Amino acid sequence: MYKTKAYSAASATSPLASAAIPRRDPTERDVQIEILFCGICHSDLHSVRNEWSSIMPTTYPIVPGHEIVGRVTKVGSAVTRYKPGDLAAVGCLVDSDGTCPQCKAGLEQLCPNQTFTFNAPDRHGTAPVTYGGYSGSIVVDERFVLRVPANLNLAGAAPLLCAGITTYSPMRRWGVTKGKKVGVVGLGGLGHMGVKFARAFGAQVVVFTTSPNKTEDAHRLGADEVVVSRNADEMQKHAGSFDFILDTIAADHDINAYLNLLAHDATLTLVGAPEKPLAVSAFALLFGRRNLAGSLIGGIAETQEMLDFCGKHNITADVEVIPIQKVNEAYERLLKSDVKYRFSIDMASLKSE
Ligand code: NAP
Ligand code: ZN
Repeated sequence: MYKTKAYSAASATSPLASAAIPRRDPTERDVQIEILFCGICHSDLHSVRNEWSSIMPTTYPIVPGHEIVGRVTKVGSAVTRYKPGDLAAVGCLVDSDGTCPQCKAGLEQLCPNQTFTFNAPDRHGTAPVTYGGYSGSIVVDERFVLRVPANLNLAGAAPLLCAGITTYSPMRRWGVTKGKKVGVVGLGGLGHMGVKFARAFGAQVVVFTTSPNKTEDAHRLGADEVVVSRNADEMQKHAGSFDFILDTIAADHDINAYLNLLAHDATLTLVGAPEKPLAVSAFALLFGRRNLAGSLIGGIAETQEMLDFCGKHNITADVEVIPIQKVNEAYERLLKSDVKYRFSIDMASLKSE
């Protein structure tokens, strides 16, 4: 076991602050990675503030962060795919049972025994729970380490590990292709990646935003049309017309307003995870025989596929790079939808702690 610097929160109301955390020495199957950049996902904030207490209560101290890119510093004797000096990435998962039908189908995120990168029981017993990427280094089983295409900017590549796969996977699953009309609801970290992917897949993309000042950016990111969702007339113009809608909103909102925009038999998929249950009108589903679905990140093979797709098409997140010392301020800005469009922490800043 060794210690690495990190930022952790001691309670739901404490700010994140400098700490030292234990990491296991790499076992024969492990890869040790020096973390260079870690994105800030809204899930980090939900977890730090224990907003998902009824589903996934937070164990303190918590070290969040699951959008990790870095460089391999050490590998175990049985590791075959990585060597010291390689670029490597870690997303939301660090382990799964490997034997259940979901794991066998490459859907490790749906494994009943999956281990999330932070706030999950630590199978190795190094600490009570896993600690995430707001830290100097991490040790992960080779099976959960991803390759980063060499042409991608690393600060912008980090958010692909969650915001990227969480939007890529449902768009692939629900057939977002050329000629399809696709809505992306909420232009934040996930939403702006959703726009980039829908555009890259050739779809007609409509962005729904509560922030009129994001209109120009939405077009630049690839939207054909931008609707300010507080304007009921503008919403009504799109009634019954969408093949697919991806809802990325992190807070309570009227989901029926979006269900009504679906064509018959079309699907609205939730990836946003608001603290409180959403009220669904049965009629919004009955009329039009519509579908309401959910999607959770993506499996490891699909995450690699997404990274390779991004390498080929030169897709990264639009990031504001910050030092770790600005993380609490960044959380406040995230709550005000004031980030264009993902914070990426430069982990070199941790060295001065
Ligand atoms: P984010 O950067 O904060 O973006 C969320 C966007 O939602 C905001 O930029 C804003 O867009 C919109 N929004 C916020 N509050 C709103 C409100 N009260 N009413 C309407 N719209 C509102 O967050 P994120 O990192 O993209 O994460 C989004 C959600 O997805 C979070 O709940 C997160 O936990 C969840 N998530 C789920 C998965 C999964 O696997 N399913 C993975 C990662 C994250 P506009 O300014 O454009 O309106
Ligand atoms: Zn995330």
